[in-house]
Amino acid sequence: MTPYDAVSETPPRAPLADSLGRKVTYLRLSVTDRCDLRCVYCMAERMVFLPKREVLSLEELDRVTSAFVSLGVRKLRLTGGEPLVRKGIMDLINGLSRHLRSGALDEIALTTNGTQLAQFAEGLAAAGVRRVNVSMDSLNPATFARLTRGGDLTQVQAGMDAAVAAGLKVKVNAVALAHDNAAEIPALIQWAHARGFDITLIEAMPMGEIEADRTDQFLSLAAVREELASYWTLEDLPLNTGGPARYVRVAETGGRLGFITPLSHNFCEGCNRVRVTCTGTLHTCLGQDDATDLRAVLRSGASDKELVSAIRDGVWAKPHGHDFRIARGAAPAVARHMSVTGG
Ligand code: SAM
Ligand code: SF4
Repeated sequence: MTPYDAVSETPPRAPLADSLGRKVTYLRLSVTDRCDLRCVYCMAERMVFLPKREVLSLEELDRVTSAFVSLGVRKLRLTGGEPLVRKGIMDLINGLSRHLRSGALDEIALTTNGTQLAQFAEGLAAAGVRRVNVSMDSLNPATFARLTRGGDLTQVQAGMDAAVAAGLKVKVNAVALAHDNAAEIPALIQWAHARGFDITLIEAMPMGEIEADRTDQFLSLAAVREELASYWTLEDLPLNTGGPARYVRVAETGGRLGFITPLSHNFCEGCNRVRVTCTGTLHTCLGQDDATDLRAVLRSGASDKELVSAIRDGVWAKPHGHDFRIARGAAPAVARHMSVTGG
């Protein structure tokens, strides 16, 4: 038994919920702010990463996650930065998989850029991971390299192949960008659906300072959907994951297509999720600066009871909704980068 098993065995007093009655059952945990790519909409070219001591250790990541699990979180998604570049990531995942075996967690999923997936796919599957979201914004190697500032498309696609071979379900994530990939969106959808992958399009969100002007990159998914619907049959699916994605089935390809539209769609009433950054800050809303410093709690020698209580208090104060706007010349709505918070 590890010291943290005790946390997971404590029966929850009441489900984790906010003051508006929304139950929180989904945790997205950023395990690092580092990455081997520098996507233009996500990071600055010369990104300054956090000093190591500011980032939670593997033991702290396990402890904080286990506290959420003890409070009724059923789904965990590991993200970053790039989760697979975190040293010891498999030790963390193998440790957390005890919550899958005990039945406390339904799922551990991963969002990755796919560069290291060929090497990790089998280990992930063995640890009980069933699904990976892989980001791929273009099918053109040159465009992909430009958007990721150096990424190798064949490496990412080989990662997806390895994931399939290991029995993982793959979903493709693509950020829709007005100039860079707007014209290839139908091809991306066909590519994913031909392989049996779901694909989700994401609107660029104003998070963190980057070099590019976001008003130039922004592409409304309402417009994309309208265009797709002019030649494809998009059938609404009732699937609701408690997040900002809305799904359709494309009759012609038979595949599922998601739209994540934080800017043009209000999804906050049904929101079931919170995020913990790699520095242990609990953010209960992606689009607000609300924050609870769980690292300070962890490092003050707090008991599990105190940790759980800090989490409950943070979640209770979850804001009713976000306040994203993309205005020319405006500061980002949220100063932190997506790579710190976790997408
Ligand atoms: N490195 C992994 C990856 O790329 O999948 C995980 C972290 S990444 C921050 C998670 C997702 O957020 C990716 O699909 C990425 O495309 C998306 N993303 C990053 N910055 C974004 C932004 N400013 N607006 C919208 N999506 C963003
Ligand atoms: Fe890295 Fe993912 Fe951000 Fe791209 S989107 S820079 S892969 S963290």
